[in-house]
Amino acid sequence: MRICNLAAVAALTICASAQTNFTGDVISGYPVITALDLKDVPSNAVTRYWLYAATSQGRVPYFLPVFVARGSNDSLNSGRKLSLSTSIHGDELNGIPVVQRVFASLAEWVAQGNFNGTVIGLPTANPSGNLHNNPNFFSSSDNGFLTNLNRIFPGESLLDGGNIAENYVHKIWNGIWGNTTNVDIAVDIHTLSTGSDAPFWAYADFRQEGVQRLVELAMPDIIKIDAGEEGSIETTWIGRGVPAITLEIGTAKVWRNEYIDRAEQYIYRLLNDLQMLPNSSTPEVDLSNTYKATDISSINAGYSGWVNVTVDLLEDVQEGQEVAVLYDSWGDVLERLKSSTSGRVHTVRTDPAIEEGSRVVWIVYNATSSGK
Ligand SMILES: [Zn+2]
Repeated sequence: MRICNLAAVAALTICASAQTNFTGDVISGYPVITALDLKDVPSNAVTRYWLYAATSQGRVPYFLPVFVARGSNDSLNSGRKLSLSTSIHGDELNGIPVVQRVFASLAEWVAQGNFNGTVIGLPTANPSGNLHNNPNFFSSSDNGFLTNLNRIFPGESLLDGGNIAENYVHKIWNGIWGNTTNVDIAVDIHTLSTGSDAPFWAYADFRQEGVQRLVELAMPDIIKIDAGEEGSIETTWIGRGVPAITLEIGTAKVWRNEYIDRAEQYIYRLLNDLQMLPNSSTPEVDLSNTYKATDISSINAGYSGWVNVTVDLLEDVQEGQEVAVLYDSWGDVLERLKSSTSGRVHTVRTDPAIEEGSRVVWIVYNATSSGK
């Protein structure tokens, strides 16, 4: 990594004419910023920045890579503004190559001069989590604690009393996304946590106009129609009227190329649907293999031990059907777990070591159609 200071005069010149806040530092050839104004970003190009999001104990800085693909000059006003973010949970990695590949394509497309709109990409939103092989953000205070960043958006600044984690997400929310001024539609990409697996699926809050189309373009295996989680990126967008989904593509710490490919193709369909690509046409959406569910039933372990899941992802199960067997250390059966509902297998435990009370299988179902 190369770090150098720009000439102070040059930096001041840039700052005087722009709301994008350049710190004056350049890392690996890309400028460091603390705030982004899209008017300052070159049109017909993909520009790379580092967001200076926080400084950890020991004065180790967190710099987040930020892509901005800007179309033609007029399209900042005439076109849509899409946010693609991923890995806010630091062990969830499949979204990283999705964002990288989309921006590699965008670099060619915007250079042709007729791309209509703007795309902002955050390929690694939580390097603290990446460093610790953990979904959460590590804070050193009080000998250390972990914060789920996807529950504290839009954050709080240090001046308003926020801690380092709250200020960190405040920098993303306000510095990059401009408190919604830089974004009018958003996709946040996740995977399951370590130790479980799931198909290609999404959370979607159908109460927000635009969300149903946004999620159906993904053609996922399962759409979980969901009111969201307070403080998540998705729900924070929804709360401000911006259509957004949480797209979940596989398991943590495992490169799932099939899902990466599907997510990449989804984003291209979305760019078409948003009329951002030249000669855009409304994409055909095939939902024949998509299961829409309103409810989830979690089958949890009654004992700690070793678990063998006996159903497959996306298998249809009946109420009372065995879904997993729990063993003690002698190999004797502790428990045969049964499904409490009829539905489709959504999540399975892949880590055989199980702790009492933790999830073994998730079954999705539709309470309204089954009458339950
Ligand atoms: Zn996640």
